[in-house]
Amino acid sequence: MAPNLDSFFKTVDDNAEHFIDRLRKAVAIPSVSAEDERRPDVVKMGMFLKEQLEGLGANMEARPLGKQPGKEHLELPPAIVGRYPAKKDDSKRTILVYGHYDVQPANLSDGWNTEPFKLSVDDKGRMYGRGSTDDKGPVLGWVNVIESHQKAGIDFPVNLLMCFEGMEEYGSEGLDDFIIAECKPGKFFADADAVCISDNYWLGTEKPCLTYGLRGCSYYSIEISGPGQDLHSGVFGGTAQEPMTDLVRVMGSLVDTHGKIQIPGIYELVAPLSKEEQGLYENIAFTMDNLYESLGSTTGIFDNKEETLMGRWRYPSLSLHGVEGAFSAPGAKTVIPAKVVGKFSIRTVPDMEPHEVDSLVYSYVQEQFKKLGSKNKMKCHLQHSGKWWVASPKHWNFTAAAKAVEKVWHVQPDLTREGGSIPVTLTFEQATGKNVLLLPMGSSTDAAHSINEKLDRRNYVEGIKLLGTYLNFVAEEPME
Ligand SMILES: [Zn+2]
Repeated sequence: MAPNLDSFFKTVDDNAEHFIDRLRKAVAIPSVSAEDERRPDVVKMGMFLKEQLEGLGANMEARPLGKQPGKEHLELPPAIVGRYPAKKDDSKRTILVYGHYDVQPANLSDGWNTEPFKLSVDDKGRMYGRGSTDDKGPVLGWVNVIESHQKAGIDFPVNLLMCFEGMEEYGSEGLDDFIIAECKPGKFFADADAVCISDNYWLGTEKPCLTYGLRGCSYYSIEISGPGQDLHSGVFGGTAQEPMTDLVRVMGSLVDTHGKIQIPGIYELVAPLSKEEQGLYENIAFTMDNLYESLGSTTGIFDNKEETLMGRWRYPSLSLHGVEGAFSAPGAKTVIPAKVVGKFSIRTVPDMEPHEVDSLVYSYVQEQFKKLGSKNKMKCHLQHSGKWWVASPKHWNFTAAAKAVEKVWHVQPDLTREGGSIPVTLTFEQATGKNVLLLPMGSSTDAAHSINEKLDRRNYVEGIKLLGTYLNFVAEEPME
């Protein structure tokens, strides 16, 4: 039976200005995790969040995460964890939600049209400000959901566990170990039945989505060296074997113009496309024009949306990123670099095991270098890797969210995956052993991480309804 949410919806609408004001206060705290001198502001933002939730009766704790690795003079901002209602109701399901209260750096001089740490709402309801959509809007969404249930006099449908971090935009330092420890029996997150993360975006601007997959990333470097120091081509050109020549040829052998990875065995690791999955792409609200608009060109690999989406979500890709030590300034310097390091990465998908990808990469790169017959030295190594994630969109966590989207937005959500990574997703899945849902609030034009970041008023207000409705449906879904 669908829960009656009319009074909840009305309360959210009646309190919209109050909720926007809460976002305004949050945006005004410049909680930039990448800038050491802003660390007190990051902590201040964590405390703001904690106080807001305590004011609503939640049981909150600020948990220290220790010193920042590599910057031992800096204390990491705390993980703000909490439970609402303060005392667990054993008759209800427990949902663990995650968000982050830190933001990307922002300066007016970067090209913002408005002061980045002052929420500016224009006549179209676009609320500009750093962190508005990533991720303060969604995080405050949960706070507003609690307050709206109280004001509407509706029983809170679940036990809500909260985990809010302050280092997401700086690699979530210290968080993985914390999550893993707190998911152990008897610990804070131990009784979570499912996880919900609101920290990504709709594919477009009109249709909400539920996200069930992310690609992983394995990042490599190839170092080629020969001469003891940089040389002049007028003197040594034609006499020395050049590292850059070797590197360009090895890197050039990795992928072709149509995005096809040339490393044998890579595609054999990829899970085959099922009929059922193939059918999913057709109905997704996405057009080639959406792609061309975001590319700023029409230089896409495929000319249809299905292949384009599959190329982004469910097949691996290999990108060449740059060359350290190469001459890259304007002008015509006649240097022969003595040592160059080429960087590339592979976005990975089911069922590619990172260590299998590594060994295919190493042996292919070795083989390509050997073919050159060069006297230079070559080393290839992995810089970092994060695994892909795919959840079952048939799980009750997803069906509840789909019903919530239909109730609030009156459309069936797109089921999407993303080409990038949100590493904490996999950590939560592995640590809890439970289903993880990505339930975005903002839209594709929000410009998270960019200048003029915004959240549409509509997405914020309806997004609060969506998060609250999701909790009400999730309380009712049959477990199987
Ligand atoms: Zn984010």
